[in-house]
Amino acid sequence: MSKHFAFVSMSAHGHVNPTLPLVEELVRRGHRVTYGVGPEFHAAVREAGARLLDTGSSMPDLPTDVAKFTPEVMRPMMEHRLRDLRAVFPVLREHFERDRPDAVCFDYGEMSGHMLAEKLGVPDVALLPHFAANEQFSLRDVVTKDDPDAFDSNNPVLRDFLVRMKELADEFGVTFDPAFLGQVPPSPLNLVFLPERFQLRAETFDDRFRFLGPSVGQRGEVDWKPRRPDAPLLFISLGTVFNQRPEFFRTCIEAFRDGEWEVAMSIGGVVDVGDLGEIPENFEVRSSFPQPAVLRHASAFLTHTGMNSTMETLYYGVPPIAVPQMPEQAANASRVEELGLGKRLRAEEISAELLRSTVDEVASDEGIRANLVEMRESIRSGGGASAGADALEAFLG
Ligand code: UDP
Repeated sequence: MSKHFAFVSMSAHGHVNPTLPLVEELVRRGHRVTYGVGPEFHAAVREAGARLLDTGSSMPDLPTDVAKFTPEVMRPMMEHRLRDLRAVFPVLREHFERDRPDAVCFDYGEMSGHMLAEKLGVPDVALLPHFAANEQFSLRDVVTKDDPDAFDSNNPVLRDFLVRMKELADEFGVTFDPAFLGQVPPSPLNLVFLPERFQLRAETFDDRFRFLGPSVGQRGEVDWKPRRPDAPLLFISLGTVFNQRPEFFRTCIEAFRDGEWEVAMSIGGVVDVGDLGEIPENFEVRSSFPQPAVLRHASAFLTHTGMNSTMETLYYGVPPIAVPQMPEQAANASRVEELGLGKRLRAEEISAELLRSTVDEVASDEGIRANLVEMRESIRSGGGASAGADALEAFLG
């Protein structure tokens, strides 16, 4: 029987993109999806076949040049989240009280979705585009080992944030448990866009968690071709958030100028191509590329290892060379290295020569290639969006 799903996500590429193939699949099966998200993603959500609900939500300006992500550095982001939640929740509630969904599928980082499900009294389903967390494992524990200040629960900035979140939840008439440090406990169903093999401490996750692996859906079908199809293609990107690194992009140009690689380099929306000096013949530089379509042709990916980029490169079996920009990406990069799927570089050691030699080495490494083949099989067996839609249908009975 046809169901109505509410989808709610924070307005960020890394959170909306992995949900789109699932939306496409649900719509293909005759279900109705209403997707609440901010203006930047209206077109993408409509193209996937969902009805749109404009929440007006936006992402905060993020710190781009900090060595440590302490609560003090994150304070403006937390303020933004509180303001955003105050504005977004009433919009969601008002709409979905009139047009009730059978379930709310919410991005795990987007508290308003979890609150909406509770307010409406309908089942909540968490969507996780990063390492899943449960009662025994949280990535926070891994990150805190490297950087003990990152999530100090006694930090006054974090404590203040949690108190104000609780006040907001009380005002909305929903629960909020500060013990989870701004997150929520696992939902009855949690759809994880990673293969189980990539998840840390996978053995601690019970069957509330479904490791679907990534899917690319229509995003993989965009028509894009490298300019020199006979040359090996290197894709370079630091993702859509922590990408204000003109010096990194200049080092890439120095490393690969006029070499054998054809290079597609995504520099994001902030860095100006004019600040990168002369662009060599073998480089195509843009603020954004249709990434899955580029990876389909690539032989190596110099990447920040955001989880979606990591998953997309593994989906296409392209070896990643990791240049993480923040703690979560560093954890992804370490996992890539631990599983023998690529190599991680440290920010302080990066030079043109090291970039060149590492990309060459990783792209021709037989061991990495064999591990990528195995990982691709695990990804395919996760079932992707189709398994996600099966799980949702079974969940609602
Ligand atoms: N992306 C894209 N084109 C680009 C750069 C990024 O389509 O030129 C997409 C990419 O395919 C992925 C998302 O943006 O789905 C980035 O998510 P990720 O988790 O890798 O990193 P974030 O941008 O959140 O740091």
